Amino acid sequence: MRGRQGAMATQTRREFVIVGSGPGGATLARELARAGRDVLLLERGEDHRRRPWYGTYLGALVYCDRMSLLFTEEGLNIVRPLMLGGATSMFCGCAAPPPDWLKGRYGIDIDDDVARAVDELEIRPLPPELRGRASTRVAEAAGSLGWEWFPQPKFMTPERSTEFRCTASCMLGCRCGAKWNAAEWVDEAVACGAELLTGARVSRVLVEGGRARGVEGTAGGAPLSVEAENVILCAGGIGTPRIMQASGFDEAGAGMAMDTTVMVYGFVDGPGTGAEPPMTWSWENAEDGYMLSTLTDPWLLYPLINARLGLRHALSWYDWHNVMGIMIKLKDDVSGGVFPGGRISKPMNPRERRRQTAAMDVCRRILVEAGADPGFIFMTPQRGTHPSATVRIGTMLDDDLQSEARGLYACDASVFPEALDRPTVLTIIGLAMRLARHLLSG
Ligand SMILES: Cc1cc2nc3c(=O)[nH]c(=O)nc-3n(C[C@H](O)[C@H](O)[C@H](O)COP(=O)(O)OP(=O)(O)OC[C@H]3O[C@@H](n4cnc5c(N)ncnc54)[C@H](O)[C@@H]3O)c2cc1C
Repeated sequence: MRGRQGAMATQTRREFVIVGSGPGGATLARELARAGRDVLLLERGEDHRRRPWYGTYLGALVYCDRMSLLFTEEGLNIVRPLMLGGATSMFCGCAAPPPDWLKGRYGIDIDDDVARAVDELEIRPLPPELRGRASTRVAEAAGSLGWEWFPQPKFMTPERSTEFRCTASCMLGCRCGAKWNAAEWVDEAVACGAELLTGARVSRVLVEGGRARGVEGTAGGAPLSVEAENVILCAGGIGTPRIMQASGFDEAGAGMAMDTTVMVYGFVDGPGTGAEPPMTWSWENAEDGYMLSTLTDPWLLYPLINARLGLRHALSWYDWHNVMGIMIKLKDDVSGGVFPGGRISKPMNPRERRRQTAAMDVCRRILVEAGADPGFIFMTPQRGTHPSATVRIGTMLDDDLQSEARGLYACDASVFPEALDRPTVLTIIGLAMRLARHLLSG
């Protein structure tokens, strides 16, 4: 593997410089390197996959921005992994197809690319016996109330693991090997000749005469400067607008989407959803713009998150094994933004609050139907798992994801034209495959 940590790149002029190794960057690096093109992939974080803390609570402190304590000014917690593979190192492995509106409203057709990824990664729901008893109980209870849930397709192949033991803590990083991580596609890119530099933080894109000329930043504490014919920013919904702002694109980061997320918890006599793989069953309410899924926070995070609600909620930790959890992901409007100086804002408007309250009522009914004590059902504080729509298609990018500077592209969650209101990774992979085809045909 030619990945190197914090060293200078071997050449100073490259055909493609890709910034960030999440699903967008990893897919592009692999597609372009497979086609024999010259690729340098710059990743701010490190490769933690084989380190003892990977997939542990300590790990989440080590590799997440601000030790997992990144908050918007309104108090939404954002978990932002900064490491090889980006947020797929900590994701729940859900593989939702792109929303229909991407093609309908914006004319962006990634169906064939997504089908290719689904085929290659063998994306499908977990078999019934691995979906979890409590999670299945939630889905059955919802079904009996007239809301038919579906088994969520997953970036998970249990056969890859010698001992499949996916639980809520799989959100800290997969330790059993069943879950796909974009870092695997970085490995493939490197095997095909791409050069990877970890510990390389890009601060700005050099733009001259309306064209991207390269990037500047630091690598291993030393200055880094690379000339490039094409620069593709894949630094995520927060990283990409920051680089764009520092490169003279003042409108970057004005407005963002978050798919604002809460958990709704109830307590049952039997085992709860925490000891089961997260998000094995889901339901989408397209009309009201939200998605529900089975999920409980990992054991040690549970009291820390719920302490913000009061002592009783924090102490319900004692019953963590009996918690039945349903996650609400709300399609939020584009608002707030990522601003120079580090400020992130994501206010919630009255319309969103009303829809979230309606979703909460649905969850309450399902949990009671599933056997939860109606006397103690509560909603956790808000969080944001999908910082996105900060460098939007149609606002800052054309349909080919190119900015007004020629040769400067973005391809990650920042490019969504509006909140996706569903797991993002399969859509980002589809967009990256489509962009790679475009670049290779140019
Ligand atoms: C806990 C959790 C669970 C989730 N579960 C799911 C799920 O089940 N399914 C799903 O589809 N989605 C899920 N998501 C969301 C999904 O993982 C992200 O939306 C997705 O990974 C975003 O991809 P990206 O390419 O935009 O950015 P990221 O994955 O964030 O990757 C960006 C990369 O760029 C690097 N970078 C940032 N700044 C710089 C810089 N200046 N220079 C160099 N490198 C830089 C970062 O270190 C990072 O590696 C989850 C997210 C979280 C946090």
